[in-house]
Amino acid sequence: MLNIVLFGPPGAGKGTQSERLIEKYRLVHLSTGDILRNEIANGTALGMEAKKLMDQGLLVPDEVVIGMIDARIDANRNANGFIFDGFPRTTAQAEALDKLLAQKSTSISLMLSLEVPKDELIKRLLNRGKDSGRPDDSNETVIEKRITEYNNKTAPLKDYYSKQNKFFGIKGVGSVEEIFGLLCGQIEKK
Ligand code: AMP
Repeated sequence: MLNIVLFGPPGAGKGTQSERLIEKYRLVHLSTGDILRNEIANGTALGMEAKKLMDQGLLVPDEVVIGMIDARIDANRNANGFIFDGFPRTTAQAEALDKLLAQKSTSISLMLSLEVPKDELIKRLLNRGKDSGRPDDSNETVIEKRITEYNNKTAPLKDYYSKQNKFFGIKGVGSVEEIFGLLCGQIEKK
């Protein structure tokens, strides 16, 4: 199986690149942000609880997102592999993911980290907010909070995957095609 963690701060381009990668490598896309937004759209209790945190730019509790990922890995037993987009975001999530995959006799193949400077992230998110209407993309204070959460809780995962020799930094500024080429180049070296 090819199991990729697509990593990077909010606005780094994970969603855009995931769409291309799943098509090229026939992978299942698991985005915890998309799953949570779907719960909100359906008005579920989980969605309503998550929304309170998401609207403030804060992370949702680990056990909530781990449970969602567990169920979806199980539901896609015959997949060629997965792209994890926006997950894991904490060390507890990364450890849980390693355990879940080990139970299914597989593991993370590599972690690709899209590197984008902060001023560019803010510009991209505010622009995206105009089209998507996502409340967490429309307010600069919330965007700042999300980037702070990323730096404090998520960026340390670079070390986690480096220790397993699975971390690869990719320049996330340039055309979508150019960045896609860099990602594929790294996947094919594996
Ligand atoms: P995203 O679409 O990945 O930018 O996620 C949007 C929001 O959903 C985040 O700011 C968090 O509030 C929540 N979220 C998404 N994925 C996770 C995760 N793996 N752990 C905790 N919270 C998450």
